[in-house]
Amino acid sequence: MSKVTLLLGGNRGDRELLLSNAVKAVTKRYPLLFKSLVYETEAWGGIAKGPFLNQVIQIETKETPMVLLAFIQKIEAELGRMRNDHWGDRTMDIDILFWGDDVINTPELTIPHPFIQERKFVLEPLKEIMPDFIHPVLRKTIRVLDDECKDISSVQVYKK
Ligand code: ATP
Ligand code: CA
Ligand code: CA
Repeated sequence: MSKVTLLLGGNRGDRELLLSNAVKAVTKRYPLLFKSLVYETEAWGGIAKGPFLNQVIQIETKETPMVLLAFIQKIEAELGRMRNDHWGDRTMDIDILFWGDDVINTPELTIPHPFIQERKFVLEPLKEIMPDFIHPVLRKTIRVLDDECKDISSVQVYKK
């Protein structure tokens, strides 16, 4: 069994409904261990327009990373995601942040996700559920990575 941490979110359509449907679809297949609050986060990277709703969850799986990747890409497609929108607007994006303490580098997958330490919208919800987890490549806790992160974009707990 591996403990796998995912980031889910989008900035198009009914963001709240899409996010809850994505979490439901994932946790229907994989047991849920932890779930962060929902955060409203400023678009990052200068391409997407309009704030995202983001949430981090941790699940458990016996499957391989490629099987999970195929599954999350299927959910993205079912929730209306077009594939040609790297860093752009989207109804749903699901990224694999961590796969236990494993380090994976293949053409399809980089785990830990390469931008965790540069993104407040990832670090804040991550810190909520696993502040003391040590990043297996950077060898620092999420709390320290969050303290050191220079990203100043806005990240707030989402209130309906
Ligand atoms: P970013 O990865 O910077 O957040 P993005 O989420 O917009 O950008 P996508 O267009 O959703 O990028 O994904 C492009 C490809 O990234 C996917 O087809 C997948 O093969 C690859 N990928 C590499 N590492 C990961 C990972 N850890 N989680 C999800 N996809 C990954
Ligand atoms: Ca992403
Ligand atoms: Ca993605």
